[in-house]
Amino acid sequence: MGYQNWAGNFTYGATERIYPESMEHLQQLVREHRHIKISGSGHTFNSITDTHGVFISLRHWNRMLELNEERGTVTVEGGIAYGELCAALSETSYALHNLASLPHITVAGAAATATHGSGSGNASLAAAVEAIELMDADGELHTFSRGDREFAGVVVNLGALGIVTKLTLKVVPAYTMRQFVYENLPFSQLAVHAESIFSGAYSVSLFTDWQQPGFHQVWTKCREEDGASYEGHADYYGAVPASAPLHPLPDMQTENCTEQLGRPGMWHERLAHFRMEFTPSAGQELQSEYLMPREHVYEAVLAVHGLREHLAPLLFVSEVRTIAADDLWLSPFYNQPSAALHFTWRDDWQAVERVLPLLEEALAPFNARPHWGKLFTVPEATLQGQFEKLPQFRELIDKYDPDGKFGNEFLDTYIRAAQKP
Ligand SMILES: Cc1cc2nc3c(=O)[nH]c(=O)nc-3n(C[C@H](O)[C@H](O)[C@H](O)COP(=O)(O)OP(=O)(O)OC[C@H]3O[C@@H](n4cnc5c(N)ncnc54)[C@H](O)[C@@H]3O)c2cc1C
Repeated sequence: MGYQNWAGNFTYGATERIYPESMEHLQQLVREHRHIKISGSGHTFNSITDTHGVFISLRHWNRMLELNEERGTVTVEGGIAYGELCAALSETSYALHNLASLPHITVAGAAATATHGSGSGNASLAAAVEAIELMDADGELHTFSRGDREFAGVVVNLGALGIVTKLTLKVVPAYTMRQFVYENLPFSQLAVHAESIFSGAYSVSLFTDWQQPGFHQVWTKCREEDGASYEGHADYYGAVPASAPLHPLPDMQTENCTEQLGRPGMWHERLAHFRMEFTPSAGQELQSEYLMPREHVYEAVLAVHGLREHLAPLLFVSEVRTIAADDLWLSPFYNQPSAALHFTWRDDWQAVERVLPLLEEALAPFNARPHWGKLFTVPEATLQGQFEKLPQFRELIDKYDPDGKFGNEFLDTYIRAAQKP
């Protein structure tokens, strides 16, 4: 059996995994091998990380290198996971603006696929990147800083341009948060109050299994400014405060989740839903997610609710979030304040593969773009039409990896086949 991703639903074609000891060693490996792929923490669900060559793991390249207080940035090595960076930052008075639902993923892997958290005013995790160091297919290093011509093309790179050896991220002064969970928010509240519901806290996530016309849980993460303490609401647009900690999935241990009930804690102990030392989500699962202009969120929720009979046997839970626009070429949030409809499926790809086209058809009127790291069946021509900067990104591939050393079938299908400008 070869190497598998975190979910165990994908077996990579890689023949070997190598852990480079130094930049010189990495350079030598890149020059020696015809096909290479960097594996981050393997939390993608599709074939984007696949290779039939060798895997290179930067798992030991996990240090915080420099905290620049004057510029408000932190520079990290290309293999660091968010959990490791949070631990290092917690020793300082600085923080990140946001996290995904789990801290287990690598910073470079998250940037590569435009991974996001939630919050009307919070852009994707990739949007916090201020500079990036990339080793190209010849083993040459390039640094791109915000404002450089190619910077916006290099951050969300799908692993297609080379090896990210360093990243510099924006930091903000450390802050405390409280997490409040509410139960039973009717879908109909989104018809009038969508904007206020999603901006009612620093980060808001709505969970549903679609069987009722409502969200069974609303997770709100509230940021406390200047020491001001934040109290929860007696009623969140009809939803009522939970009286005990909850897991978004039925029958799962709540100890896996970050602390709730409004208990104050540091930013990194509240922003993710799941705790670093525990299994996130269900563990044995598949995931899909679709990102669309935010104004369509209510209509999109109704469209998916119409498919509830198809979803019921396959779905653990869905999560609806919002993400601010960014300027990164292959980001699904490019120039677009967005809403995200996420699906955590039971581990049954054959059945999920039959339902995805129905879901994608229902979401097509809203120009829903698939998450780069999750499972989708959107035809390549449709997807290519959804990313206006894709032809320019392909020029970057031609420049930094002309012979497809970092290529694979996923990139050949969705990216390399795209037209040049
Ligand atoms: C339980 C669970 C919860 C999740 N929650 C969220 C969520 O809240 N929000 C969200 O948006 N996504 C979420 N995801 C998806 C996940 O964040 C993304 O798939 C992310 O890309 C995973 O990062 P990774 O390090 O595991 O990447 P990998 O799968 O290891 O790699 C992803 C891509 O990045 C490339 N890559 C990795 N490191 C480097 C490097 N150093 N240089 C160049 N290329 C590199 C790989 O080659 C590959 O192309 C979740 C996934 C799981 C399993």
